[in-house]
Amino acid sequence: MRIAVISDIHSNLEAFQAVLSEIEKEQVDTILCLGDIVGYGPNPNECIELVQKHCETILIGNHDYACINKSEMFFFNRFARQAIEYTLSVISEENLDFISGLPFSAIVYQYLLVHANPYIPESWDYILSIDDAIFYFSKFKSKICFIGHSHQPIVYYESGDQQYGFTAERELNLDPDKRYIINVGSVGQPRDNNPAAAFGILDTTENHYELIRVGYNVSDTIDKMYSAGLPKFLSDRLLVGK
Ligand code: ZN
Repeated sequence: MRIAVISDIHSNLEAFQAVLSEIEKEQVDTILCLGDIVGYGPNPNECIELVQKHCETILIGNHDYACINKSEMFFFNRFARQAIEYTLSVISEENLDFISGLPFSAIVYQYLLVHANPYIPESWDYILSIDDAIFYFSKFKSKICFIGHSHQPIVYYESGDQQYGFTAERELNLDPDKRYIINVGSVGQPRDNNPAAAFGILDTTENHYELIRVGYNVSDTIDKMYSAGLPKFLSDRLLVGK
């Protein structure tokens, strides 16, 4: 079985469409979404509707959550907050309703899915270092936990003898004796100095994971953000993937 895992679309329709057409070429059996469909970008409704159409499982991310629990915005910087205010000004009632029904975590085909971390997903605490990963490996049982949230693709692993490590390799043969925390990066706002959209494909027959990058027309998204009055800081960062 081939499973595409996507995260952090952030209302970036051009990036999401590019990812969906790449996924079609990759002939996957299912698409799982780890949340943050909205926030930052200009097209929340279009992205929510595409997620509904294409994804088997859909989680809530912290930006989605901020749309339905405004006190969450307290934790956001002013640019992220402005983007949520914009999102709330354009999002349909139906789509807002849809977001409010999404879960914080799911187990699908034995794999654990969360937006931020596998211990208390709704804390939105990040996994940003090997020390963070070591802590979180003790908090779940599945062979693989898929995460997003930091917008930085990376794979942490734990071997049977409590050895830990990480790799930024884009292709990985999965070892049946290891457990993994896999960050699939971000579709709509990559932050690893590469502006191309990111997502992951797990091949359960081949025991193989691959991070895929796909370029898209960033300037179209930036033009729309400008017209929507979204902060320049948010559009500038798309050009450099920061
Ligand atoms: Zn995000």
